[in-house]
Parts: sequence; structure tokens; C-alpha cells
Amino acid sequence: MTAPLTTADIREKYLQFFESKGHLRLPSHSLIAPDPTTLFTVAGMQPFKPQFMGAPAKFPGYGENRRVTTAQKCLRVGDIENVGRTLRHCSLLEMLGNFSFGDYFKREALTWAWEFLTSPEWMGLDKSRLYATIYEEDEEAFLIWTQEIGLPEDRILRFGADENFWPADAPKEGPNGPCGPCSEIFYDRGPKYGEDTWADYAQTRESARFLEIWNCVFPQYDRQDPLPDGTPVLADLPFKNIDTGMGLERIATVVQDVYDFYSNDVFAPIVARIAELSGKPYEGPQSLSHRVVAEHIRSVSMTIADGVALSNTGRGYTVRKILRRASRHAYLLGLREPTLYQLVPLVVEKMGGAYPELVAEEERVTAAIRAEEERFLKTLEGGTQRITSLLSGLERGSVLSGEEAFVLYDTYGFPLDLTKEIAEEYGITVDEAEYAESLEKAQELARAGSKYGKSELFGGNQEALEGLSPTRFVGYEELEAQGEVVALVSAGERLSHLPAGSEATVVLSRTPFYAEGGGEVGDTGRLEWDGGHALVRDTRKTPAGVFLHDVLVEEGELRPGDTVRGIVSGERQAIQRHHTATHLLHAALRAVLGSGVRQAGSLVAAERLRFDYTHGAALSADEIAGIERLVSRWVSANFPVTWREMPLEEARAAGATALFGEKYGDTVRVVTVEGGVPFEGRTVTSMELCGGAHVRRTGDIGAFVIVSDENVAAGVRRIEALAGEAATTWVRERLQTAGRVAGLLNTGLDGLEARVAGLQAGLKAAQQETAQVRRQLAEAQMGGGGATQQVRELGGFRVAALRLSGIEGNELRGAADKLLDQSGADLAVIASDRGLVVKATKDAVGRGAHAGQLVGKLAAAAGGKGGGRPDMAQAGIQNPEAALGALETAL
Ligand code: ATP
Ligand code: MG
Repeated sequence: MTAPLTTADIREKYLQFFESKGHLRLPSHSLIAPDPTTLFTVAGMQPFKPQFMGAPAKFPGYGENRRVTTAQKCLRVGDIENVGRTLRHCSLLEMLGNFSFGDYFKREALTWAWEFLTSPEWMGLDKSRLYATIYEEDEEAFLIWTQEIGLPEDRILRFGADENFWPADAPKEGPNGPCGPCSEIFYDRGPKYGEDTWADYAQTRESARFLEIWNCVFPQYDRQDPLPDGTPVLADLPFKNIDTGMGLERIATVVQDVYDFYSNDVFAPIVARIAELSGKPYEGPQSLSHRVVAEHIRSVSMTIADGVALSNTGRGYTVRKILRRASRHAYLLGLREPTLYQLVPLVVEKMGGAYPELVAEEERVTAAIRAEEERFLKTLEGGTQRITSLLSGLERGSVLSGEEAFVLYDTYGFPLDLTKEIAEEYGITVDEAEYAESLEKAQELARAGSKYGKSELFGGNQEALEGLSPTRFVGYEELEAQGEVVALVSAGERLSHLPAGSEATVVLSRTPFYAEGGGEVGDTGRLEWDGGHALVRDTRKTPAGVFLHDVLVEEGELRPGDTVRGIVSGERQAIQRHHTATHLLHAALRAVLGSGVRQAGSLVAAERLRFDYTHGAALSADEIAGIERLVSRWVSANFPVTWREMPLEEARAAGATALFGEKYGDTVRVVTVEGGVPFEGRTVTSMELCGGAHVRRTGDIGAFVIVSDENVAAGVRRIEALAGEAATTWVRERLQTAGRVAGLLNTGLDGLEARVAGLQAGLKAAQQETAQVRRQLAEAQMGGGGATQQVRELGGFRVAALRLSGIEGNELRGAADKLLDQSGADLAVIASDRGLVVKATKDAVGRGAHAGQLVGKLAAAAGGKGGGRPDMAQAGIQNPEAALGALETAL
């Protein structure tokens, strides 16, 4: 039997299947919704609404195609409460989708879905277990299912717009935009999940047995505002589209034939880890807390990786709510210390391959979760006491006041749903309207006009920075420039002056300092003015474009209105070298490995560059050499590097590399290397959308070397490379080390390899010889072949024991075999000054002997430690006599 497909296999097969049907594969859009109808992305189709409405099917950096396929991460806020309670809902789900923008329609969509599910080459599901629903008026879908696919009529159910229109009830309820009838595919998981029949489903619409796996939507309408009398308005879209969505978690459960999500290959290791950390075994559906924690850690990790900061409003609030729900369940499992953050590596391992941003952000995600857990646990203890005493004072069936619920939230950090959940356990409901009122009042007070929301990045300074105009950045061209001090800010306050020795954030009208962004680190340097100077230790900027210089005044005093001269440190040259080298590396990687390679994150600093990219295998030495050679060709060609602002459309048309799903303004900055280099009969060029700082000519890079290529998650690799002096120094140091090693071996670099090979061969021969001598030594000590061994009866076993010297490892084990053989005993114990070994016969093990346990006891008596299997175990010991002496009492 072959192992069932993993979740990653299924995802990949799906995308490959649709590629084989002429689809373009695109990466997932961020979880932050592409349009304002929802907070988070809720379906695979959402990023493509413009294409459904008639926009050109062009995807910068990927190409143009009216057939597209994706695996889209989705978060469904409405399903959070379902998690752990139903068998089919996650809060975070991956939706596999294939889309047609006015290209193919229903026939292809349904027949391909059928082919993918049932063909042995793909999912190979049993046809007799598949069922479908259709929109009540959709005769076309009915005919395709029954006549072309051959699905029996009695396996099709017809429903109204509440079930078989997407979004559900769109004609009446909205939202506005593309919508249409749909056909859902169900899988019968069999009677062990329920005795209900397909016909029953028409009434119940809820079943653990019949699981919806795939929804094929036929968007052909643009839902617009209804007429004043409420009549729905469905205008025809410019053409008919296809939008399908299959839940990866659900199909994986079906294909792997496991009870539910929590036993599939992604969740099972997380659930197991939770069981291990809490010491509470997982026992299936009744282990609600394991399930909630395992599911929620994925949602929280993925949303934070996509840039959501935990907060008290909007997205940040939703994610905080999910995290706190998970935290409370961890608490219920007896975990009193932050634990959830320890699960992040498992999530990264399982999902990082498909979602490289998770790998790039792992550190930040872990830190954010841990900090929130710490905060929450502190309050949870106090809050649990308070709510318990409140609830136990109330009768079942009564109502907890909304104000109390708000105090629990405000003081103890209990989200409302948590309070509701606990109250429910006491049969008590919460006055939610009153809670909402209290919350509204409190938020009004707190709102005091903050534009940025709570961004951790700018500490408590966001209010003090409000109202400032964006800074003029002149640092692409100039490394020294004059500007006026616009504001001095520290600890959330505007300052009127900054004396020598103080640290603060300085805002200038005009600056040459680059602010951290696009992977490039912020500039450092100096500010100088009449009578003083200061160090600039870092530069960042607010989303509104205000540059923040992190400054220490060394001499003199700084006041708003002063004119200062900003001088960027010489490190910037090295940063620029690494930045341009990053672009060339990117272009070379795509040339050598294929254009499927995608950037998954980067870091550009003065000391080095780091580049994460999607690729399944380690680079070979030849590939690394090939990539370096390409970059070196650019360097020696000394081409100019230029940058220009241009309309996004123009940049796309010129073929600039952009990141799909990244938001760009109407005008973008394009960095171009003005010249290509030959590779396998074609010319490789580099043109990227980029806001960073670059060298003027490729020759300025000087030298380039790749120092490592390693795996950071399934399907994501990380290259570290050096440019300029950093590269030559690195190479020189390694050459020197190699030279010293050669010197130690009395040869030169050229003779080194042969010399080492010779030494290795010599060493191997010597080792074999030693082993031989030790075997002989053991045999001599055991008295050749015929020595009679002392065999004692201990604890119901016949035990042969022997003291040897100078014997270890293999020979010690060989001697034990021999001893068992010669003596005919049940157990052989050999103690030498270099170790202890115990062997037991099969028969003795059958009667309860355990070599591992015996070794443990003997070793303990001899100042050592050890263990092993029931039939063989060993230990390192100090005192062989003590080990043998303990035999009497150990058995
Ligand atoms: P359900 O009625 O089961 O909640 P749905 O009608 O909301 O499903 P769609 O909006 O049509 O589902 O989404 C398409 C597919 O995405 C579904 O067929 C299912 O496989 C999957 N899916 C939807 N919601 C979830 C969820 N919360 N967890 C896991 N998979 C889901
Ligand atoms: Mg649903």
C-alpha cells in the first residue's frame, strides 16, 4: 500500500492538474482582504473581482492568462466559533481554486472537477461516494452532471439562493459585485459518521456524513444596489466566469480517510505536541481544547505573518480574540506558562513551503504571540476568579450584565466570546447590547484622534507625530544634505529642545537618510550644526512617510527650526552594493533555476545580503558557480544602473519584476541594470520595482560570492551572499585557513585533497587493526573458546557476569553475545573499565527480563548512566566492580 497523499501533495497536485488544463499558477494573496467588503480574504476568488468585472487578466511578474489557479489562504471570522465544535470548519482554511475570466464555463468546470476527484492519477476517490447540489433553476448544470458526467439523478439535490448561490443569498443580501449560481460537490464519508441518507440532507442540511468539499460557482452577474422597493438588481457581467473553491483541509481529510482535520498530516503533529506539552492525551472530538489550540495557532501565525498587529480594533482585534481563545484553552489544559508560541515552528514547517512569508516572519510571529500570551496569562488568573465568583452567585437561566462583561474585558482582557463561553457552562447568558454600549463609550474616550492606530513600531510616539508632513527624501542622489528640524519626539511628547547626552527621535524637513524598508536596513550617520553634532543610529518611517531619525546628541543642543546637515555613514556604499547585487542574484537565480523561482523575502545590510526564494532542492555546486559567474559578468561589464519613476502600467508593460499581491501606488520606482549578460543563448536582464538605494554602475559591486544556501522551510531556501570588500575578505580568510591546514599536513593547497584522502585511508586501516586487536584481547580475557563461565541464578534468571578490561563498543557487545552463547545463560553482563553491556535472550525477555532496566540500575551503582532495549542495553560507567557488585540486588 502506498502512503496517502499529504496535504502538500494534494495542494501541488491540484495546481498541477489545472496547469495541465492551461491555467496560470499564481501565489496566494495576503490574508488582508484585497477589497473592503471583508476584513480578511475569505475566498480564492476575492483577489480576482476586477477580472470577473472585465479588467484585463494581467498579473505583473507572472504573465497574462484568462485561466488561473491558486491555493489561497482564507480567514473566516464567522467560523471562529464553529472551530472544534463542527467536523468541517476551520477559521483559517486554504482554498484551492480554478478561475476562468470569460474563458471556459460550466461544462469544463464540472467535468474537470470530476476528473480531478475520481481519476486514479489524481485523487482517485470512489465515484459512488460523490454527490452534488445545484441551484434550483440551473438545468444546464443538471444536464452536465447527469448526461455528461453520468451522476445518477437521485444523487443531485436542488436548493435555492440560500445554499446554491455564491455569496449565499447574494441577490437579496449582497454584497455587491460578482456573484452567481453554484454547484457543490459532497463526499459520503459512510455510516460510521451517521445513519442519515442523501435524501435526508434535503431537509436537515447538516450532516457529519455528507461533507461538502468543493463549491463550483458560475459568476455571471454583477449584484448592484437593489431598487427602492427592495427588488434585487443582477446586471450581467461582461462575460461568464468560473470560480471554484475546494477546502484543502476537507479534501485532505477525505483522501487520508481520517476522522477529521485534527488527524490529518498537518494537524496531527500539532495536536500531539499540545498533548506532550500539557501532559493531557488527545482523545478525539471530546478534546475540544487541543483542537481549538491546534486550529487557532495556524490562523494567528498566518495573520501576524501577513502584517496584522494585535490591537483593540479591526483586524488586530479579531486576531487577538482568536489568540486569547486559544490561550484560554491552553489554560484549561493546565498550561500556566506561555506555550502557544512554541507551536509556531510546526506551523512554519507545514505551511512555510506554500506561504514563504511565514518563514520570513517566523521570528516576529513567535515574539508577538509570546508577548500576548504573557499579557493574557497575567490577567486571566485574576479574571477567572472574578467571573467564577460572579457566575456562581447567579441562577441558571439568568443574565450576566453587559457592564460586568465589559469590566472583564477591559480589566482582565476577557474577550466577550470568552465570557460568553464560560457563562454558557453555567447556563447563563450575557447582555450583549449593554456590553456593546459600554465598549462604544470606552472607545470614544480612547480614540482621541489617533490616525495610525496602535502600531507597535513607533512605540508611544504616534500621537506626537500626527499632523507632520511627509519628509522629502533626497538620499538616492545625495549622501549629505541640509534640512530643518521639524520635530523632536521622545516618550510620546514633543520636545522644545534636546540637550547634549539625550536620545530622541528627530524629524527633518529634508533628509539623505534612507528609512528601513523593502528589505534594506535604515541608514546611520551624523547630524551636524553650528555648535553641535549628533549620532544617527537608525532611520525608520511612518506609514504616512514621516522619516524618524533615532538620534543621540553628542555635543550642543538641538531645537525645532534649527538647520542641520545630515551625513550618511560610509556603510551606505556597502548597503548599495549589496542591494544591487540582490537584484542581480534574483535575475541569475531565475535564469539558472527557471522563472518559477519566487522571492520570499530579503535583507540588505552593510555586512551581507540574505535572499529567501521558493525552490524545492538544494543548489548544486555547479548551480552556485553558474549563478556567481552570471553576477560576475554583470560586475565586469560595468553597466550603468538607473532608476526612474513611471506609471505602474508602463512598468508592467516593460516587464519589470514585481511581487504579486503587493500593493503598489499608481507611480512606481523602477531600478534597471542597463545591459544584459549572455546565458545559454539568451540575454538575462534585471529590472525590478524597488524603492531601495543602489550603486551607479555594476562595477561598483566589485566582487560577489555566495556563502551559504540552506533550507528554511519546505520549499523555501535562503541564500546569504557578500559583495565588495566583504566578499574578498571572506574569500581571503578561507584561503588562509585552507593554507594553514595544508601547512599542518606538510603540503601546499594543490596537494591538500590527495593528502587528506591518504590520511583517511591510513586512519581507516588503523581503526580496523585496533578493532581486531580488541577482539583478540576480549577473547584472550574470556579464556579462548572453552572457558567455563560462572553462572548464577538471580531473580529467576540464569546470569553470566564477566569483568574485562580495555574493551569498548562493538567488541564489548560481541563479547556479550559470545558469553551468552558459551554459558547458555539467560542474561550476559559484561563490565569493563570502558563500559557496561547487558544482553538478554529472547526467551528471557519473554519471561520479563529487561536489559535496559537492569543496565540503568547497575550503571547507577557505578556512577554512570545508560539504558536501552529489553534485549540489549549499554552504559558508560566509572567503576566496573561496583556495577557487578550491584547484580545481587538489581535483579
Ligand atoms: P459550509 O456550508 O460547510 O460552511 P460554505 O458554503 O461556507 O461551507 P464555500 O463558501 O462555498 O463554503 O467555500 C468553498 C469551500 O471551502 C467549501 O466547499 C469547503 O470545502 C471549504 N470551506 C468553507 N468554509 C470552510 C471552513 N470554515 N473550514 C474549512 N473549509 C471550509
Ligand atoms: Mg460556511
